[in-house]
Amino acid sequence: MSRLVFVLLDGLGAAAAATHMSFLAALTQASQARHTELTAELPPLSRPIYATLLTGLTPLETGIVRNEDARPAPAPTLFARARAAGLTTAAAAYHWVSELCNIAPFTPGRDRLCDDEALPVSHGLFYSEDAYPDAELFRDAEALRFRYEPHLLLVHSMGIDFAGHASGADSRAYREAVRAADALLAASLPAWLASGAAVIVTSDHGMDADASHSDATEAARRVPFWLVGAPEDAPLPVRQADIAPLAARLLGIPWS
Ligand SMILES: [Zn+2]
Repeated sequence: MSRLVFVLLDGLGAAAAATHMSFLAALTQASQARHTELTAELPPLSRPIYATLLTGLTPLETGIVRNEDARPAPAPTLFARARAAGLTTAAAAYHWVSELCNIAPFTPGRDRLCDDEALPVSHGLFYSEDAYPDAELFRDAEALRFRYEPHLLLVHSMGIDFAGHASGADSRAYREAVRAADALLAASLPAWLASGAAVIVTSDHGMDADASHSDATEAARRVPFWLVGAPEDAPLPVRQADIAPLAARLLGIPWS
């Protein structure tokens, strides 16, 4: 069966990605990855865009237009569809993904470690601190991959977003966080591809010089998208709502 690793690098703007992610640039130049840029849905906030990436619906369509709106997605998520098709699912992700896909509100003692095949994200390691180190997050994902060999694995890091909110997009800290994520991908991606997985790398929103991403501006909205190890006929998304159906296609499961 098909496999997919979905990498969501929170807060990664397209401009920083184009300049500071040399490993992904190398893959693209060698035609081993296909690359495009997308304009994030409005409002370009994390939880509303997570819901879009997971359901294929815009924030206005899900009704989740605020970060504070902690509730399950009102439509089937990619994880629910994958489980319905009998696929194994896992996520190393921020706890809002647990709320959207599994159960809300997030209760750390109950939900941080998740191992229940009745849940859409059957195997999860969910963190709550925005300062959670990306290197540990990637190790969490690798531990899930090693133990469960999931068909669908979400790898959701917060280090770039954290650096952006602390120092703004025009800062050494933000640039270094982007470079570090590129290096983590350089260390992880070959093994993912060797396992037969296709790989999506994208972001929910960008970051601006005010250390924010709530405006309807290019800095806050423009995000990169890479597709690696996928069949040639898999179409690149034009908008963020296209990503969940594309992911389903890569997994070989129905969407509509
Ligand atoms: Zn975010």
